Amino acid sequence: MEKDIGICDECGSEFLLSSSKMRSLCPECAHILYGYENCSHVFKNGRCQKCLWVGRMSEYIKNIKENQQ
Ligand SMILES: [Zn+2]
Ligand SMILES: [Zn+2]
Repeated sequence: MEKDIGICDECGSEFLLSSSKMRSLCPECAHILYGYENCSHVFKNGRCQKCLWVGRMSEYIKNIKENQQ
């Protein structure tokens, strides 16, 4: 049973492939690293209902985010 779910190379979270422009990165990481359109996450039970991202961030992504604020 294979769904269109990928594992993000950067944060290790599962994500819905159709929600991201990149097959190896969730929408969040693809957005931060490459400027692709992010998902407008809708969290329910700790998981985005749209892209399935679980809100994980790698240290690298965290640093980038903190520096942007
Ligand atoms: Zn990710
Ligand atoms: Zn999302």
